[in-house]
Amino acid sequence: MRLYSTNNRNHFVSLKEAVFKGLPEDKGLYMPEKVPVLSKAFIQNLRQYSFPEIGFEISKNLFEGAIPLPDLQEIIENAITFPAPLVALDEQKFMLELFHGPSLAFKDFGARFMAQLMGYLNQGEDKELVILVATSGDTGGAVAAGFYQTPGIRVVILYPSGKVSPLQEKQLTTLGDNITAIEIAGTFDDCQDLVKKAFLDETINTRFRLGSANSINIARLIPQSFYYFEAYRQVQALKNETDPQVVFSVPSGNFGNLTAGILAHKMGLTVEHFVAATNANDIVPKYIETGNYSPRPSVRTLSNAMDVGNPSNFSRLLDIFAESAISSEERSTWNNMRGKISGYAFNDEKTKQAIIEIFRSYNYIADPHAAVGYLALLEYFEKHSSENTTGIILETAHPSKFKEDMDEILGQEVPVPERLAVLAHRKKEATLLNNTYSAFKSWLIETL
Ligand SMILES: *Cc1c(COP(=O)(O)O)cnc(C)c1O
Repeated sequence: MRLYSTNNRNHFVSLKEAVFKGLPEDKGLYMPEKVPVLSKAFIQNLRQYSFPEIGFEISKNLFEGAIPLPDLQEIIENAITFPAPLVALDEQKFMLELFHGPSLAFKDFGARFMAQLMGYLNQGEDKELVILVATSGDTGGAVAAGFYQTPGIRVVILYPSGKVSPLQEKQLTTLGDNITAIEIAGTFDDCQDLVKKAFLDETINTRFRLGSANSINIARLIPQSFYYFEAYRQVQALKNETDPQVVFSVPSGNFGNLTAGILAHKMGLTVEHFVAATNANDIVPKYIETGNYSPRPSVRTLSNAMDVGNPSNFSRLLDIFAESAISSEERSTWNNMRGKISGYAFNDEKTKQAIIEIFRSYNYIADPHAAVGYLALLEYFEKHSSENTTGIILETAHPSKFKEDMDEILGQEVPVPERLAVLAHRKKEATLLNNTYSAFKSWLIETL
C-alpha cells in the first residue's frame, strides 16, 4: 500500500511513514493511492459478516499486504470492540449510534484503530515512542483511552487547567500506566504551542522518539469507513433487501466522518446521497451552494465539536472529487461534489427545537450534533422525493457529554452512562505546570 499527499500526487510514502508522520511536509494530507472497489457479492451479503469482519474485509483490500493478515485481523479485533447500532426513530429515519466506546463519541473508533496500528508498526523499535497531544477536552479522552496500555508507546496529554469539563478531565487524568496528563496553567492555544515547540526542539528530538496523534492522521479515517458498511448491513437486515437505498446525514466539523463515508461509497457501498449537516459554521454548505470556498474564523455554538472555520479534511474531499480530465478543474470538482453531497446549516435555536421535537415525537434523546443531522435529513427529504430511501443520521456523541445544555433544553435530567459516571469517583493524577516552554521541557527531561 502506498499513500500520496493531496499536494503532490507523485510523491508516495509507505503506510508506516504516513501513520507515524501524520502530516506530509508539503502540508497536504495523506490519501491511499488506490481505493479498492469491493465485490458486489460482499456488499450484497454484508449480513453474513460481523462488524469486525466487515472492517477486516475492507482493510485487507486497502492495505494490500502491508500487514500480514493474521496480524491485521488482531488489530481490527482489538480496535472494533464496541457496536454501532442503528436505532429507529420511525420507518424512514434512523440514528447510527457511534457513542458506545470509552469516551462516548465516534472519535473512539479512529483513536483505537490508530493506537492498535501504531502499536503494531512500532514493534521492533527499541526506543519508546512518546506521543504529545494538546487537547481542549474531547480528542484527548478518545486518544487516552485508545492508547491506554499500548506497549512501546507513552502518551503525554496537555490540557488547559480549569477549561475542560470535570468529566472530561477525569477521562484524561485517571487512567495512569502509559498515559500522563499535564495540566497547563493557560489556554488550549498555550498547550498547542508547547507541543509544537517540543516537536521543533533538537535536544528533545535527540533524546526522545516523538510522535503525534493528529486528527488528520489517515489511520483515524480508515476505521470510520467501516461503520457506513455496518449501518448498511443493518438496513439490509431490517428491510430484508440486498440493495436498499440509503442517505447518510453527517454532522460535520472537520469533515473526517463525511470523507470516510465518501471513501466507503468509492469502495462500492450503494449510497444515494450524503448530507453535510453543519451549525452556523457553514463554510462547506456555502461552497456546495456557490462554488466558493471561503474559510473564516469559527463561531461558538451549542454543537461545539463542529465549530470549525476551515475544515481540515476539505482538501481530501476536493482530491476525491477532482476530475483531472476536464480542464476547468475547479468547476468540475464542484459539480462532482454537488452531485453527491448536499449541505445544510442550522442555528442553535433550530437545534434546540429539534432536540425537543425528537424527544417528543420519538422519545429519543439526541445530542446537539445529531439534532443538526436530523434537521439536515428532513431538509433533504423535503427537497427530494424519497419514499423508498432510508435516512441515517450519524449520532456522533452521547447526549450526556453535553449534560448541562441538554438538561436545560429538555427540562429534565439526561442519564449518564455507567462507564462515564464511575469516573467521577476516580482520583485525578496530573502535573500542574505553568505555560512556559522551559517548564515543559524540564519536565520532559526530568520525568520521562
Ligand atoms: C468531532 C465531532 C464531530 C465532527 O466530526 P468531523 O469528522 O470533524 O466532521 C461531530 N460531532 C461530534 C460529537 C464530534 O466529537
